[in-house]
Amino acid sequence: MEKISFRLELRWNPLLREWVIVAAHREFRPWQPKVECPFCPGSEEIREEWEVLALPNRFPSLVENPPPPFSSPKFPYKVEKAYGICEIVVETPNHEGDLCNLSQENMRKVIDLFVERYRELGSKDFVKYVFIFRNKGAVIGVSLHHPHSQIYAFPFIPPKIERELKSALEYSKNHGKCLFCDVIKAEKEDGRRIIYESKYMMVFVPYSAMWPYELHIYPKRHLGSLLDTNEEERDDLARVLRVVTATYNSLFDFSMPYIMVFHQVPTDGGKYDFYHMHIEFYPPYRDKEKLKHAAGVEWGAGVFIYSGEPEVRAKELRETCEKILGKIS
Ligand SMILES: [Zn+2]
Ligand SMILES: [Zn+2]
Ligand SMILES: [Zn+2]
Repeated sequence: MEKISFRLELRWNPLLREWVIVAAHREFRPWQPKVECPFCPGSEEIREEWEVLALPNRFPSLVENPPPPFSSPKFPYKVEKAYGICEIVVETPNHEGDLCNLSQENMRKVIDLFVERYRELGSKDFVKYVFIFRNKGAVIGVSLHHPHSQIYAFPFIPPKIERELKSALEYSKNHGKCLFCDVIKAEKEDGRRIIYESKYMMVFVPYSAMWPYELHIYPKRHLGSLLDTNEEERDDLARVLRVVTATYNSLFDFSMPYIMVFHQVPTDGGKYDFYHMHIEFYPPYRDKEKLKHAAGVEWGAGVFIYSGEPEVRAKELRETCEKILGKIS
């Protein structure tokens, strides 16, 4: 295996006030390699026996010992070293499948590994935010199909999280309570967008969904991160993630691509007790045949157009969920 030299940096966008990771070495990463899966047992990267495991990403966008920036920007530009860590969580030794194909015990081990990595990566000085996510499907741009999630440990709080933090802080100042807890209440009162409710989790299509079959999972208890969950909640979350992915996969009778993200409190040492962790899913399909594309209005203006009604799609998801529930142990 040839050693790759890292060529990467963070470039500041002064107009949007956001960091962009420029990772020049990522041009050379494998695109759907046909030969050997690097995550299957016995591969070069993984030799011994395992059920779930975290590995360093071989083509990281952020590294613990970043090289000096390679551009020399002048005012008004700004550059920083790309500090951070990128990891892969291999969820099973089996080469095929989705979260719903994992056993409950296996999925629980994945959750436990998320908890451990969040704690471990978050304890590092230069890590301000631990971002856990899962990309599934070729249309999402997944290069390796072996079931896996990813973790990016960022040296800054990503802008989407920053916006949620700001809203939650302002809400708690103005109303004396948690915005997310109130969203759960509002969804319960309305009921039309609820897909599934377990003992500890609430699954619903958000009122202002952007993606056609977008859904969110909120823990009913006010928790900042996975670190605050108890044993029962971890078991429950493991099962709920299997229920949600099984629902997606039987909605159109094909394996539904999606993006899954965990939104949790930053790990920069600040106090964020006004924030409430949750999980968001964005599948790109709007019906059996058509993809929803983020195009001019979405990219150019930052305004999403939702074709259809979230309540109608929520009903479809809820009915599909009811059908598959019996099959999930
Ligand atoms: Zn594999
Ligand atoms: Zn809350
Ligand atoms: Zn969120």
